[in-house]
Amino acid sequence: MQFSKLGLSDPILEAVAEQGYMVPTPIQERAIPVVLAGKDLVATAQTGTGKTAGFVLPLLDRISGDRTLRGKRIRALILVPTRELALQVEDSVSLYGKYLNLSSMAMVGGTDLEPQKQRLLDGVDILVATPGRLLDMAHQRALHFDELEVLILDEADRMLDMGFIGDINKIIERLPEQRQNLLFSATMSDEVRSLIKSSVYHAVEISIGSDASTKPQIDQWLITVDKDRKSALLSHLIQERQWDQALIFISTKHGAAKLVSQLEKRGIKAECIHGDRSQAMRTKILADFKSGEISILIATGIAARGIDVDELSRVVNYDLPFEPDDYIHRIGRTGRAGASGEAVSLVSKDDFKNLCAIEKRLGHIIERKDLEEFAAKKVVPISVLDFVPKNKNKPSQKSESSKSRQGQKSTATKGKQRTSARKNDGGRSSDTSANPWGKWQDKS
Ligand code: AMP
Repeated sequence: MQFSKLGLSDPILEAVAEQGYMVPTPIQERAIPVVLAGKDLVATAQTGTGKTAGFVLPLLDRISGDRTLRGKRIRALILVPTRELALQVEDSVSLYGKYLNLSSMAMVGGTDLEPQKQRLLDGVDILVATPGRLLDMAHQRALHFDELEVLILDEADRMLDMGFIGDINKIIERLPEQRQNLLFSATMSDEVRSLIKSSVYHAVEISIGSDASTKPQIDQWLITVDKDRKSALLSHLIQERQWDQALIFISTKHGAAKLVSQLEKRGIKAECIHGDRSQAMRTKILADFKSGEISILIATGIAARGIDVDELSRVVNYDLPFEPDDYIHRIGRTGRAGASGEAVSLVSKDDFKNLCAIEKRLGHIIERKDLEEFAAKKVVPISVLDFVPKNKNKPSQKSESSKSRQGQKSTATKGKQRTSARKNDGGRSSDTSANPWGKWQDKS
């Protein structure tokens, strides 16, 4: 399928051609006609599938006619979870809309309110915003929604994870009832479903996650190590494997700053972004990471959410996240739009519970690799997917969660009998329905 067959106007096609995109990605092929037809849309799509262009291109087309926008008004609102993502999405709007006479703006917290208010005075066609700052502006009567035509909720699951549901509901209450709604989410939790019920009516639903041919090519592996040797192992991997680029996820701000200095002591230049760094600093560091000036970037989960670097070759989980979906979001930073990528996790005994939850969510066990000199003294048990107790003839009265706890316990016992971490191919599940990355990555 060619872009020209999708019904987009020439100025948009020209901007797309300049980006070197040859054909639409599957989400674009399916979403663009729906949005152009003015219908509501709910799409499950991972980051890296080209979903941003999937909604920005038809949005530009829909609102590019004559405009008579009054001051403090907007025609389209794109709500996103983080400042970084807002800046990125707005970049895409400017890029794809460069041959159209439309205005756009990113409105995020952590920056001066006044310049944003000034920009709003003339009216803005497409506003990309984080929920908190948007509500602030609405409360201050710097922004009115009576001319709004389209609402887009991007990375809805992440917005809910970050506790924005109250703000989102307050925003929706202020919008005109007659509007087009689009919702994009990497995962479809109960919370997302209930947001859909209250905000998106009669939507066309698209799910891209279950088609293996559209999955990013991500080589996932892990290495077990004691917690206090993680920084030494990371330095070793960066130097010995000559990593050209890595985005490293860590759980705390303090840990991020400490890791930068630990790497520096070993001659590795790194930078970190987290919630305590100013917006200007975060933007600069991200720009340096994108341009390749910084090759090792350490980020806390939230700060890293919006990072979109073309062909990011590698992500590292210095700490495993508590939420399996966060793991999926994280590794989605690499292997984007058809490029291949690597996702490496440094797993200590403390991470085992999180590892089990992630592997269950993926529907397969992550390949383990060994490094003799970093072999963990506190052995990380071998994981067994969907552990089934030996005496399976006796029907168990236990709940699902207690079964899974029991599985972990038995798994742990098994692991103690083995002395070193090694590649583990056991315990594959035949049910990959819950696996957003599909079975193909399974390396058996
Ligand atoms: P997204 O999933 O929106 O974050 O997009 C991921 C990456 O895919 C971005 O870097 C886009 O520039 C790129 N991209 C979007 N659409 C296409 C396409 N049709 N062909 C190739 N790359 C694309």
